[in-house]
Amino acid sequence: MKMIEQIRQRRPWSEEERLVLDQVQRLADEVIAPNAARYDEAAEFPADTIQAMNALGLNAIFVPEEWGGAPMSYRLYLEVMAIVSEACASTGIIYGTNFHGMKPLIDFGTDEQRARLLPAIAEGGLGALAITEPDAGSDATGMKTRFTRDGDDIVVDGAKVFISNGDVAERLLLFGKWSEIEDPRRAISVLVLEKGTPGFAVTGTERKMGHRAAPTCSLAFDGARVPRANLLGEPGDGLRILLSSLNKSRPSVAAHALGIARAAFADMVAYANERRQSGRRIVEFQGNQFTMADLACELAMVETWMDHVGALVDGGEPDFEHAASAFKLRASDLAMRMADACVQIHGGYGYCAGHRAERLMRDAKITQIWEGTNQIHRQLIGRSLIAK
Ligand SMILES: Cc1cc2nc3c(=O)[nH]c(=O)nc-3n(C[C@H](O)[C@H](O)[C@H](O)COP(=O)(O)OP(=O)(O)OC[C@H]3O[C@@H](n4cnc5c(N)ncnc54)[C@H](O)[C@@H]3O)c2cc1C
Repeated sequence: MKMIEQIRQRRPWSEEERLVLDQVQRLADEVIAPNAARYDEAAEFPADTIQAMNALGLNAIFVPEEWGGAPMSYRLYLEVMAIVSEACASTGIIYGTNFHGMKPLIDFGTDEQRARLLPAIAEGGLGALAITEPDAGSDATGMKTRFTRDGDDIVVDGAKVFISNGDVAERLLLFGKWSEIEDPRRAISVLVLEKGTPGFAVTGTERKMGHRAAPTCSLAFDGARVPRANLLGEPGDGLRILLSSLNKSRPSVAAHALGIARAAFADMVAYANERRQSGRRIVEFQGNQFTMADLACELAMVETWMDHVGALVDGGEPDFEHAASAFKLRASDLAMRMADACVQIHGGYGYCAGHRAERLMRDAKITQIWEGTNQIHRQLIGRSLIAK
């Protein structure tokens, strides 16, 4: 569509960035998209796809050079997320979770920690972000996982649920409460737990509506010993790190949702132009045009908002929390509406697995729930309107 093509063509990428995006698009078209349905159906981790992404060095784009990376702009990272997720939402969230888990280490770790823990990620190792617990979802401050100091170690006891990449991650960014601090919010602390740590176990893997190729795990920590050297900041710095990190992971999940919306829009328009009923293409019925016109406008707005948020972060703007929430909210609501309309335009065929519409609708729903449900984002934006 011309309007959306214009937005894409006019985006200011450097020559180097264009080169990366072309390579990612080729990988998406030739490797990621053709395998997406197969991995989804088998609910199998897309190891080959991830390997191909690592061959392109896609983790390196968010890791600083000193620690093995080849960093590029945050705006570019968001576009990579959208391209990969358009091709396969499961692959998109596996990739993005590396960023969500490891960015706080990049931003808040010491040089010693970064030098020790980041090169494996730059080379393609997987990361995870472990916040949610059975009784602490939207209100993460209710978490119960305990960190207890013991000599040069921290002993971890507790459980997490719904952890993306939980069974495949080399490094888990793990939030818990420092046992010596009484105030429940001030006690929140964060450390990096490495795969294979004794006392750490994966206790289950969810069977999900969508994102079936991306593992979502329950984790248990039973006296797991983590070197004190893996604590980010000081005991009690966790909430500050958590809030700041979410501001960068929320645009990332929004870009992921945008990818799903792009896929649903493309499939919907293509099918509407091809399917004939009552002697006409179904795109010629005005009711369908109105549905698609509204969604095209919203898609165009969300596309431009992604670059706005990316530019805020790249420009060093410290206060972008509400812009990030707005992006997460609108992109995920759009993904769901777009996927729903895509199924509707496909008629009965949209409900069946032969078309991508069915998978897109299953994949879209969670984007309104994770990284802060959309009620929470409406609340964050709404509260900012209260005069002080
Ligand atoms: C596939 C998947 C992957 C995930 N990946 C990760 C991950 O990698 N790491 C991680 O830590 N977590 C992850 N999560 C957890 C996810 O972030 C939480 O599910 C989400 O934050 C919501 O928490 P909850 O499920 O406990 O719902 P609850 O917090 O119990 O919410 C239930 C309902 O109540 C509403 N609600 C709650 N509080 C309020 C309020 N104050 N105002 C208005 N409405 C409210 C919610 O919006 C929701 O509709 C994942 C979840 C899933 C399903």
